[in-house]
Amino acid sequence: MNEAPVLALRGVEKSYRSGDHDVLPVLRGAELSLHAGEIVALVAPSGTGKSTLLHLAGLLDTPDDGDIVICGQSTRGMAEAGRTALRRDQIGFVYQFHHLLGEFSARENVMLPQMIAGKPKAQAKVEAERLLGMFGLSHRMEHLPGKLSGGEQQRVAIARALANAPALLLADEPTGNLDARTADAVFTELLDAVRQKGLAALVATHNEELLPRMDRVVTLRDGILVPR
Ligand code: ADP
Ligand code: MG
Repeated sequence: MNEAPVLALRGVEKSYRSGDHDVLPVLRGAELSLHAGEIVALVAPSGTGKSTLLHLAGLLDTPDDGDIVICGQSTRGMAEAGRTALRRDQIGFVYQFHHLLGEFSARENVMLPQMIAGKPKAQAKVEAERLLGMFGLSHRMEHLPGKLSGGEQQRVAIARALANAPALLLADEPTGNLDARTADAVFTELLDAVRQKGLAALVATHNEELLPRMDRVVTLRDGILVPR
């Protein structure tokens, strides 16, 4: 592969302070190269740092040391405005709990990130409807998140993450909150969408059955990423 990775982690370190003096090292030099069209699963026990790693990769937090490179752009020392722009334009993030805005409809939730990125409202609406249609939600566009089932909420959250046509999709146990059958269906739709768009994706999951459909599986061991 000649192209720069969509996401590269270079020597990423992150510790948390627990109490006045104790420091909890979570990442101790994590390395990863993730290319377009590649789906990587992150499978590791609870508390090992999956969410920490995804938040850093999503530029939602900053490492203590090392670099997060997005589409060839180093973010080491980058000002917040630059990080925000990269996050908005190149990264879609799906959380375990949908984090949709409760007072806005499904369609509006998918329109908002596009409008924040400067797209005209009419165009954002067309794209939101297309994306929601892709996830079988054409009949749920006017619904508020609270009126949707858990599976529908996560589908809207995935549509929202894809709304600005990111290069990178990060998902933190995106179906961990759903019953097994719904989780399976939603996960399949997520993977299909990622494959179809040729995105790079890093997905933390506990769902062993879906791992054969990923390109690679990595785990966290002593604060670094290793093949599993
Ligand atoms: P995972 O997602 O794999 O369950 P996390 O990344 O959430 O793991 O957490 C890794 C470790 O860091 C855990 O021990 C957790 O308690 C700790 N941790 C996470 N976030 C914070 C924080 N903001 N402050 C202090 N400790 C944290
Ligand atoms: Mg977590």
